[in-house]
Amino acid sequence: MAEARPPLRLDLDDTALVANWRALDQCSGAARAGAAVKADAYGLGAARVVPLLAGAGCRDFFVAHWAEAAELAGIAPPGSLAVLHGPLNDADCATARATGARPVINSLAQAARWLAGGGGSCDLMVDTGMNRLGLPMAELGDPLVAQLEVEVLHSHLASADQDVAQNTVQLARWIEARAMLPKPRAALANSAGIALGGAYHGDLTRPGLALYGGVPRAELAGAVAQVARPMAALLQTRMLQAGDPVGYNATFVAPAAMPVGVVALGYADGFLRAWSGGKGVLRHGGRALPVLGRVSMDLTIVDLSTAPELAEGDWLELDYHLPEAALASGLSQYELLTLLGRRFARG
Ligand SMILES: *Cc1c(COP(=O)(O)O)cnc(C)c1O
Repeated sequence: MAEARPPLRLDLDDTALVANWRALDQCSGAARAGAAVKADAYGLGAARVVPLLAGAGCRDFFVAHWAEAAELAGIAPPGSLAVLHGPLNDADCATARATGARPVINSLAQAARWLAGGGGSCDLMVDTGMNRLGLPMAELGDPLVAQLEVEVLHSHLASADQDVAQNTVQLARWIEARAMLPKPRAALANSAGIALGGAYHGDLTRPGLALYGGVPRAELAGAVAQVARPMAALLQTRMLQAGDPVGYNATFVAPAAMPVGVVALGYADGFLRAWSGGKGVLRHGGRALPVLGRVSMDLTIVDLSTAPELAEGDWLELDYHLPEAALASGLSQYELLTLLGRRFARG
């Protein structure tokens, strides 16, 4: 049987990925940059991303789920994995022991569970005002916390992509928390937080989005290059005549004769209907091929007026320069990456 060659593939620029990590590590000053590789490295494929970053010197990897830690256990350097959701039950504690991944303890209940299972090296997340995960500041003095072997004290910024007072409020609380637990390494900054300056860096930073080409703050625009290049194959081409409708509900009607192409890409692949009606553009050799009509589940129709020679089997590139794609689609840069579906072949 011939090897399957799906009509969707997600090309990764490995060089750009490694350069992005190095740039973020540099921007982190005296702190070391880690890497958030949760959600399969934001959809790009953690099994490929982790070894590349480890090779560049990254020694701290963050996932959200225990299943993600289990998948990466044989891939990430020993002792480099931490699980942000923490242990929700005894099975999670067992996974921690089996994989060597550290739990990030988020509550006294999690602390008790981890200690009851034998304890050992862990991280601790303190909530400094996002009111998402993390131990409330008031509970930091609890005797259970004193029993933990905390390797990294974390907090997380809610609004690092904006210049708002919440950042300095969270920074002050994180400094207070560090004073209460002086031994562990301390981490506060995500990608955007790195750009807020040295006060936010601590010993370790946790960039995710910017590693993968996202630009959460203008200061990072020059430092970060596009990594993900989703590609989709043309399945069919046809010539429309003036008045011919295109796709579901005929939301586009050809104003004149024009060549169009049908692409093996749809909302089931994460190419949402948000791209319908010309909001989305595919490219071939720099030429723009706007989306015509509605995106359907498995198919998208594009205007081939600028590239009439294209034929079945030719590859088109999605316009996935993240800051611009986010503006065009109304989706966040995070969503654009994590939406890309399982039908994309990942190298
Ligand atoms: C996802 C996540 C990060 C990475 O954030 P980016 O904005 O993608 O850089 C860092 N820290 C925590 C706790 C996270 O959940």
